[in-house]
Amino acid sequence: MVRMLLVGPPGAGKGTQAARLGEIYGIPAISTGDIFRANVRDETPLGVEAKRFMDRGEYVPDSLTNALVADRLTHDDCADGFLLDGYPRTLDQVRALDEMLNAQGESLDVVVELLADPDVVVERIKLRGAEQGRSDDSEEVVRNRLEVYRRETSPLVEVYGGRDLLVSVDGLGTIPAVTDRIVAALTARGFGA
Ligand code: AMP
Repeated sequence: MVRMLLVGPPGAGKGTQAARLGEIYGIPAISTGDIFRANVRDETPLGVEAKRFMDRGEYVPDSLTNALVADRLTHDDCADGFLLDGYPRTLDQVRALDEMLNAQGESLDVVVELLADPDVVVERIKLRGAEQGRSDDSEEVVRNRLEVYRRETSPLVEVYGGRDLLVSVDGLGTIPAVTDRIVAALTARGFGA
């Protein structure tokens, strides 16, 4: 049982690692980006609204994002832990998540920060854009996403560090090597797979 989140710049490999860690720890990997993209694909009202922000590399408003996560965390599969990938991303979302968990008498166990060099992530994302056709992976939008990350999300590292929840892991290297590094860091904190 572990309640954790992954934080790191776009292109650091959060999605890939989240899926692998979810398997290893037997918990659902919940990606707000994936949920938004599914809604965009299905042209739901949430998707239509979210797309306006996503296409520009901006964050979807906190009110929409918080409501989505609050609902998702009530699903049965979250009873024995979860891994949030790409949420929270703002200080308002940090507060909202704290409240959601407090209301259930729960709290976060650990926050994994994936470290990545900005130049490397821009190159990775451009490759992903070519392969997967993500509309927010063009160079201009990527640069904006990195800037939004620096401005809105990087302060979270300090917040969680102050709570002694932070584990920072080098996100460079092969996919399995990074997974191994994260698992080793989590094991050292007492969270066995
Ligand atoms: P991701 O797949 O995590 O890179 O997310 C893709 C896009 O979805 C982001 O650039 C945002 O526009 C939106 N998004 C995902 N998660 C959040 C969040 N926690 N808060 C606001 N917007 C988000």
